Order: sequence, then C-alpha cells, then structure tokens
Amino acid sequence: MKSQSEIRRLQGTFDLLPGDSARWVWLESRIRAVMARYSFGEIRVPIMEPTELFQKGTGETTDIVQKEMYTLTDRGNRSLTLRPEGTPSVVRAYLEESLGAQRPLWKLFYIGPMFRAERPQKGRYRQFHQYGAEMIGATSPSADVEVITLCRDILLDLGIHDAKLILNSIGSAEARADYNTNLRQFLLRPDIAGGLCEDCRRRTQTNPLRVFDCKKEGCGRLLRDAPTIDAHLTAEDRQHFEFVTQSLAGLGITYEIDLRMVRGLDYYTRTTFEFKTTRLGAQDALCGGGRYDGLVEVLGGPPTPAVGFAAGMERILATLEESGWSGVTPERLDVFVCAIGDRARSTLGATLGALRRLGLSADTDFQGRGLKAQMKEAGRAGARFALIFGEDELIREQMSLRYMDEARQADISADTSTWTRGLFEKTA
Ligand code: ATP
Ligand code: MG
Repeated sequence: MKSQSEIRRLQGTFDLLPGDSARWVWLESRIRAVMARYSFGEIRVPIMEPTELFQKGTGETTDIVQKEMYTLTDRGNRSLTLRPEGTPSVVRAYLEESLGAQRPLWKLFYIGPMFRAERPQKGRYRQFHQYGAEMIGATSPSADVEVITLCRDILLDLGIHDAKLILNSIGSAEARADYNTNLRQFLLRPDIAGGLCEDCRRRTQTNPLRVFDCKKEGCGRLLRDAPTIDAHLTAEDRQHFEFVTQSLAGLGITYEIDLRMVRGLDYYTRTTFEFKTTRLGAQDALCGGGRYDGLVEVLGGPPTPAVGFAAGMERILATLEESGWSGVTPERLDVFVCAIGDRARSTLGATLGALRRLGLSADTDFQGRGLKAQMKEAGRAGARFALIFGEDELIREQMSLRYMDEARQADISADTSTWTRGLFEKTA
C-alpha cells in the first residue's frame, strides 16, 4: 500500500505493529525468565547520557565513538548521546548508586533500544535493541563461564541451537601493551602499511588492536600474517583462559578459538567471546561479550573486575525466522458483543464492563453496523464467543451466547450480576 504519511520515520528505525510487537513481548519474557533462573536483576538506565560517558567508557578509538554516535547539544549547551550500548550506563549507575559499597557482587541485566549511526542494511539498524547482562565484582574465571553459559542458555531457550561460540583472550592491559608494540611494527611494514585502508592506518597509531575490527577485504588479507596476541599473554592470563576453556569443555560446550577476535570496544580484558549464526549472512554475530576489568576504574571507581555480554534482538528474531519459526500465536478474543438496535446498544458499556471484570477480553462494534458485519468482525478477531442481543432478547431478559468454534448457541441471563467466568469456558 502506498504510504499516506508525509512525514516518514527515520532511516534505520521501524514501527512494530501488534503482530510484530507480540514477538518482542514473547522474546523479552523468555529473556527475563532465564535471567531470573541465573539470579540476575533487571536494571533500567536512561537512553541518553552525557557524551563523555561513552567517550571514556566505550573508548575514543572505537568505531562506535568515532563514527556511530548520535550526539546532540541540548538547550543548556550540554553534549548528550543516545546510548550506543548498555555497559557504560550500567557501570555509571553502579558507581552513582554506590552499589559496590552495599554488596561485593552485582548481577544485572537490561533490555532496551540502542542507537548507532550506521549504514542501514539487513541486521544493521540505527535504532536497534539489545539485552545484556553484567556481573560486576567477580575476578574468578568461573564468572566468565557463568556469563557465557547464561548467554548460551538464552539462545537455547529461544530455540537457537546452532549458534557457534567463538572465544579468545586478549590478555591483561600489560600483555596488550606488549602486543600493541609488536602489532604496530608489523602494521608499519611498507608492504603492509601501503595496502591498509585509511582507517587502519589511523588505528596503527591510535590503537593497533582495532585493525581487527576492519570489515574491508583488503585489510583482512594483509592481516592474515599479523602477529597474534597469544604469545604475549602473561602466566595469569593463560591460567585464567585455561580455566574458562576447560570448564566449558567440562560442560560439554563446544567453542572455537579465534585469535583475531578482539571485539569492538576498548574496555575488554582477557576473555572475549561471540556467538555467531550461519543463518544471517554478513551480519552473523548474535551476541558479544567478555571481561572488562578496567572499565569501572576508567569511569572513576575503584579497580573492580567485571564480565558481561550484549545480544542483538533483531538478529535473534531474524535467526528464528530463518529457521522456519512461525512466530507467536495471537491471543484470541474471549467475547465479541453484538448489540442490535438502540436499546441494546445503550447497555453495551455495562455488558462489556461485566465481562472485563470477570477477566475476559471483550470487544464490540463501534461503527453501528448490522449483525452480519458484526459477526464477521467477531470471526476476524478470533473470538471464542459472540454474545448477541437485541430488543426481543432484552424483553425476555436473555442474551444469545454463540460458541464460535461449534455450531451451537445457548441462552444466558441478561442480568450480568449472575455471570461467572465458567459461563464463558468452552464446554465441548
Ligand atoms: P558488528 O561487528 O556486527 O558491528 P558490534 O561489535 O558492533 O557488531 P556489539 O557492540 O558487540 O556489536 O553489540 C552486540 C550485538 O548487538 C551484536 O552482536 C549484534 O547482534 C547487535 N548489533 C550491533 N550493532 C547493531 C546494529 N546496528 N543493528 C542491529 N544489531 C546490532
Ligand atoms: Mg558495530
């Protein structure tokens, strides 16, 4: 149908109509149920924050901060940013609410919209949605395992069984400093530097690790021979990673190690991971996460270890759809009320009210249409019952109750005070 609106929604954003929103409500409720089983509590943080939060928290050298933020100046001349990810806000709240002083370990999750100025394409939008979990205060690698397991269990609960777990350790800050020097030397080699894109040449100077984020084929080819981080890990880094991989193996969780998976955010340390699907083509990452032991400190708090993940909800729904998922069965309407004639219509409010007070869903015709059109509407709404009455029925103090799935009808009292829920249960 041709759009009748002169004002269009912004590119990379979308509207959810009731059929679609039911899928989202379903998805959110499944996520909340698994989070509860893992004892994670929901945190709701603002969708706009001071720009500085992401400059510091996400990192100046990331693509997100350099190219993808929706930043605006408000009337008070403050720089605000629509959040591109959730983790910095969660950590800001953790510090602002002094959570660390109350309990040593916090397990928090969030669900909500994120905003990134990216080129819209399949699986990549400007307003998209993530759920994520953060475990703040745990040094132990068993926390990494818990978070990876949680991430995986949500996918399994949703019916996504074939996502692949990709794992790496990017070491502690110490190991990375060492590695960065080595990697920079490689990137500056004339035979390499000459072929790198402009972004990667800039990354060589600012944060060499970021070259692995580059999605350009030319750079990917040159980077094949780049040194990898594993040789630079400290003994503690190695021990930590071994605990993670051995625990996963013990749990029967298969993974692949990708030494070039550095993840797009500056704050990661040690374990990084992604779950990928083969069903979506280029935009194949469903969730990403890892340990970020440095972030709390970067945002002004005491040194505090943390680990978490974030998952893209549009990509998860797309994966389900690609696997032949038929969606959520819409709730049926319980009763469609068909009132014929003015007197019957004048009692509609009381009738609908009585049904709704019984906890039933009830609807009626608001356009003054005849019985035939009303019955058609009842059918379209998938009503289980049609309650029909006109002048005659009111004189007899009766109404007709039609069982829409069966070819039968019964008389019920027009006195709504005698009604019970049982009257509207299916009997056949
Ligand atoms: P990519 O490499 O695809 O750009 P990313 O590293 O930017 O991903 P994260 O910041 O780790 O992604 O976000 C976690 C998840 O959120 C991704 O795995 C993906 O499923 C989803 N996601 C990220 N950006 C978008 C977007 N613009 N539109 C839809 N989903 C997105
Ligand atoms: Mg990205």
